[in-house]
Amino acid sequence: GKGIAVFTSGGDSPGMNAAVRAVVRMGIYLGCKVFFIKEGYQGMVDGGANIEEANWSSVSSIIHKGGTVIGSARCTDFRDRPGRLKAAKNLVERGITNLVVIGGDGSLTGANLFRQEWKSLLDELLSTKQINAEQREKYKHLHIAGMVGSIDNDFCGTDMTIGTDSALHRIIEAIDAIVSTAYSHQRTFIMEVMGRHCGYLAIVAALTSEADYVFCPENPPPVDWPQKLCDKLEQERSAGQRLNIIIVAEGAIDRDGEPITAEKVKQVVVDNLKQDTRITVLGHVQRGGSPSAFDRVLGCRMGAEAVMALMEATPETEACVVSLDGNQAVRLPLMECVERTKAVAQAMADKQWEKAVQLRGRS
Ligand code: ADP
Repeated sequence: GKGIAVFTSGGDSPGMNAAVRAVVRMGIYLGCKVFFIKEGYQGMVDGGANIEEANWSSVSSIIHKGGTVIGSARCTDFRDRPGRLKAAKNLVERGITNLVVIGGDGSLTGANLFRQEWKSLLDELLSTKQINAEQREKYKHLHIAGMVGSIDNDFCGTDMTIGTDSALHRIIEAIDAIVSTAYSHQRTFIMEVMGRHCGYLAIVAALTSEADYVFCPENPPPVDWPQKLCDKLEQERSAGQRLNIIIVAEGAIDRDGEPITAEKVKQVVVDNLKQDTRITVLGHVQRGGSPSAFDRVLGCRMGAEAVMALMEATPETEACVVSLDGNQAVRLPLMECVERTKAVAQAMADKQWEKAVQLRGRS
């Protein structure tokens, strides 16, 4: 059977374990030899016990766990060719020529580069007698299937990334808890939520919690936002509301590209309205905890689809990323999606917000 390895890389997210589980079981079901690579690219470079054969029961009792049980890491060695050469040797030694990478755009970029370099890496291993000619011939093609694990939902090509739904559950639970205490004391709460340059978590959290105001990166507010914010808060209070909720995305900015922080917003509210105002920064709580049913199913479906993609790959097949399109798991060209994702970041940096939203597409 074919040799497949699965690893998680970059930031962790809930639902990654469901994806790992599906890759292992689908792979075994189809007669493959499946390996875990622990600690992301670091484990691939270091080899040894980091690369371990999986069996059916080694992925039992992980679907409900948050994070990733096989570990994740940022790895500088893999950014340089000598590191990738070591990684290639470790894979060839175990007969692994198929990789399932679960990570963000950085991790997927690394995988694609590895695939492009694969033949020259094998040539170098052969010329330095680290592998033999038979291995060079037998393992000459490397196939890649990616999945995006991130709570930020910031990747182009997929409607949802693995982990976003769980993070939303956590955020909503926190806001609901805040609302009850805010109500009692007639307070104003400012909640900072994650998402890096993407406002998805902030927008959906605001919509589903009846927040009064939201600041997100893709739609910087008009320059007179302090006035507009205060008007809105006062209007709600005079209509009988006992509390106010304001959501601030961690990447929120104004029209000059300057950050709009929770602290800044608080200052505006306190200076102008003298409301009792508190800040809650949810932080890594949003990334932890057990995955929602949606993320478990998403991980399962994407993991299975990734293995199918690898089984059907020919030497000409480009690296793919498994994405959610509506309710369908689909395969898209990996590098096109990564490049579009990077173009969004560039458009944001250039203050071309409409362009960024257009590039990002549906979600
Ligand atoms: P994410 O995958 O969440 O975007 P990073 O950008 O930190 O996270 O990437 C995770 C890891 O992927 C890095 O630590 C590095 O090992 C590898 N990686 C990222 N970009 C590249 C690249 N251009 N070339 C090689 N490896 C890369």
